[in-house]
Amino acid sequence: MSLISVQSARCKDAIGSQVTIQGWVRTRRDSKGGFSFIEVNDGSCMANIQIIADADLDNYESEIKRLSAGCSVSIDGEVKPSGGGKQDTEIHAAAVTVHGWADPEEYPLQKKRHSFEKLREWAHLRPRTNTFGAVARVRNCICRSIHNFFQENGFLYTHTPIITASDCEGAGEMFQVTTMNLSDVPKTDGKIDFEQDFFDRPSYLTVSGQLEAEIYATALGKVYTFGPTFRAENSNTSRHLAEFWMVEPEMAFYELSDNMDLAEAFLKRVFSDALSQCAEDMDFFNQRIDDTVIDTLTQIADKEFIRLPYTEAVEILQNSGQQFEYAVEWGRDLQSEHERFLTEQHFDGPVIVYDYPRTIKPFYMRVNDDEKTVRAMDVLVPKVGEIIGGSQREERLDVLKSRMQEQDLEPESYWWYLDLRRYGTVPHAGFGLGLERAVQFVTGMANIRDVIPFPRTPGSADF
Ligand code: ATP
Ligand code: MN
Repeated sequence: MSLISVQSARCKDAIGSQVTIQGWVRTRRDSKGGFSFIEVNDGSCMANIQIIADADLDNYESEIKRLSAGCSVSIDGEVKPSGGGKQDTEIHAAAVTVHGWADPEEYPLQKKRHSFEKLREWAHLRPRTNTFGAVARVRNCICRSIHNFFQENGFLYTHTPIITASDCEGAGEMFQVTTMNLSDVPKTDGKIDFEQDFFDRPSYLTVSGQLEAEIYATALGKVYTFGPTFRAENSNTSRHLAEFWMVEPEMAFYELSDNMDLAEAFLKRVFSDALSQCAEDMDFFNQRIDDTVIDTLTQIADKEFIRLPYTEAVEILQNSGQQFEYAVEWGRDLQSEHERFLTEQHFDGPVIVYDYPRTIKPFYMRVNDDEKTVRAMDVLVPKVGEIIGGSQREERLDVLKSRMQEQDLEPESYWWYLDLRRYGTVPHAGFGLGLERAVQFVTGMANIRDVIPFPRTPGSADF
């Protein structure tokens, strides 16, 4: 008897072998002929394995006939060709061991269908459903693909801190980290005395590893980080989480066009891996969630991403004849409705918008010769909108300093960041991909809360 996965047991070449499988019952059906069909799932794939349990098994009446959805079992038996049309194989059980019961009167997943909203209340049970099992496998595939892509292309995986004292992109959006007693905060002259706090200063959960990744890129060439990031923005949308995972490559000697080339090749790789490595799950998403996902992902693989300067994007939107909720005006950020118009209606595919107004972008983005725009780029995709944000970084010390002043930042607190421009400065660039936005795009899942195991959103941090 060898322990194998349901996925392996479903393959024709397992026929004839004696195996053990372990998993959770999805359904049980008793036939008149004196045996039962048990569908077992172990998470290795979407499909279940069909078990034939004969009435002469010694625990048939006492246990097998009591099995219901959610019970955990081990099955020993032989893999045989299946007579049923849906599957190639089934297991004829020699022994069925029940590890745990799940009272059908109480088990919440007994009833077939629940809304995704309802399932969010059961974050501990929802991975047992087809949809959330499939999301978990696709998410895993995307993560593997991300690492493979960068590792194969000479990038060094580096780790940037999760707790940081540099409030790099606006303290308003950051979660503060403290060990101070909030009901008795130490004060000096009426002001909070952060010298008595753990780090001797205000510190926060990171919103991005970029600034630290630049340190490693300007020493080691091409690097990437992949870790959790935190934003305290109070936006209750279907595309924002308070805690999400971000992939951030940072490359020395890259200019903006190199950055775009990389982002495009990277996304194409991740999408095509999902199609080829998660075919069964992707079929499910296409049938049950969004009947365009497979077509969209397939087309992206051989389509060049449109590259569109922000100024032209504004013109397209202004001449579109569309009634937008937010007016389009040069100098304002694009809203999600604008991003969707560009990707869904005007171009019908991914669009990289670049060269944004300097006033709406952070200090570290490289100023263009026109002095009005910076070398920013956002990769926009249908339905999800912005999936990647990036830029070429300002490598000129004097320009960087004046940009900091322009945005009321103190150059002294970024002394180390400025040092990178003092000693051996180089053109460099990078971007951030929100992992959950990528999973949303691939699966077609409408709400970002359903593509991360334990979503954190305003007012919600339950298990
Ligand atoms: P948006 O405009 O959509 O709020 P952003 O411009 O604030 O995003 P960046 O700072 O550019 O985001 O972050 C890089 C990437 O991280 C984004 O392109 C997106 O994929 C992802 N991202 C940003 N904020 C969130 C969030 N709150 N939840 C999930 N993913 C996010
Ligand atoms: Mn962005």
